Amino acid sequence: MSYIKGLKCRECGRPYPKEPIYVCEYCFGPLEVDYDYEKIKKALSRQEIASRPKNLWRYRELLPIDGKPTDGLDSGFTPLIRAKNLEMALGVKELYIKDDSVNHPTLSFKDRVVAVALSKAKEFGFDTVACASTGNLANSVAAQAAVAGLKRYIFIPADLELGKVIGTLVYNPVLVAVEGNYDQVNRLCSEVALKYKWAFVNINIRPYYAEGSKTFGFEIVEQLGWKTPKHVIVPCAGGSLITKIYKGIKEFSKLGLIDKVDSKIYAAQARGCCPIITAVKDNTDIIKPVKPHTIAKSLAIGNPADGVYAVETVKESGGWAEDVTDDEIVEAIKLLAETEGVFTETAGGVTLGVTKKLIKQGRIPKDESIVVCITGNGLKTQEVVAERIGRPIKIKPNLASFEENLNRR
Ligand SMILES: *Cc1c(COP(=O)(O)O)cnc(C)c1O
Ligand SMILES: [Zn+2]
Repeated sequence: MSYIKGLKCRECGRPYPKEPIYVCEYCFGPLEVDYDYEKIKKALSRQEIASRPKNLWRYRELLPIDGKPTDGLDSGFTPLIRAKNLEMALGVKELYIKDDSVNHPTLSFKDRVVAVALSKAKEFGFDTVACASTGNLANSVAAQAAVAGLKRYIFIPADLELGKVIGTLVYNPVLVAVEGNYDQVNRLCSEVALKYKWAFVNINIRPYYAEGSKTFGFEIVEQLGWKTPKHVIVPCAGGSLITKIYKGIKEFSKLGLIDKVDSKIYAAQARGCCPIITAVKDNTDIIKPVKPHTIAKSLAIGNPADGVYAVETVKESGGWAEDVTDDEIVEAIKLLAETEGVFTETAGGVTLGVTKKLIKQGRIPKDESIVVCITGNGLKTQEVVAERIGRPIKIKPNLASFEENLNRR
């Protein structure tokens, strides 16, 4: 049963068939999935959704596949944690962590988009998948394509964190490390995609792939008891996740699953790569590409494909944008670990660091509900905290040595 009418140009509205294409031939705008919302309205209710297994496919009518989902059947439905200790530390009343650092199977929100991309790539009949990645996408495509029995080609910048490289290679893909930054990797992949008949999840499958991000927003609303949070802080790389979280919340409203959309969406980036934040602050919808220089490598996209839509999301929702330094990222990673027991990667440090700043600035009031989007796992970026945490106390294996060293602290 299909709920998709086809694809549609986001800029000029021209319709396109359901094919592995991503750009409008007339105006070069990005193509988007066009759903039959009337039909979805008849199929989906809160009760229906609640009765389904706890994974991202519980919203499948709002995801762009025609048949049954085949991949990522255990992905999504990650915890929404009420963060009492963090509330105290930040002086706010109601704060939640949406924790995709424990998403299945590769511990980042990218498991959502890849679940959808691979299910769609199979519907199209591809036997090979590929991607350009800042790290987490590489992990997820490598893992899920291995399970699916698909050939897999992964392109990354050569200077990625060891955890992300090993966390890709272990699934035995062809891993291509390009001597350049992500934007150069992506440009190369666009050329490769023209020549080879592969499903590039974030190039020719992108309209379908990106829809998977909506489930992050769907879950927040469902887990809050079908209520929208007042403030949502989202880390941005290419700007797709932030755009799709907002789209997802608006779709729930369109379908009558919630009363109204009442969420302000905030963009978070690292100071060393913040073209989206700069555009919001300069009140322009023109994104000026930058050369990334930050420890937040998963967010290091200098020329964000969905940057203009990320800015639009922030403005339309009444949110704002802020950036943090590398030091502030590390401080925030430690704060989240010490207060809530969640070890996030650099992207999570960016999000919490920015949240802290927005509360301090008074942009986010202290008495309204806040959701902090934690999108990746700290075990993958250990090098950034390694020198900034305590050391183990080394002792001999006897009680005397223990007590002697303990007293010396
Ligand atoms: C990819 C990624 C993002 C942001 O993704 P975009 O949709 O490109 O903005 C956020 N957090 C982590 C950990 C990521 O890997
Ligand atoms: Zn167009």
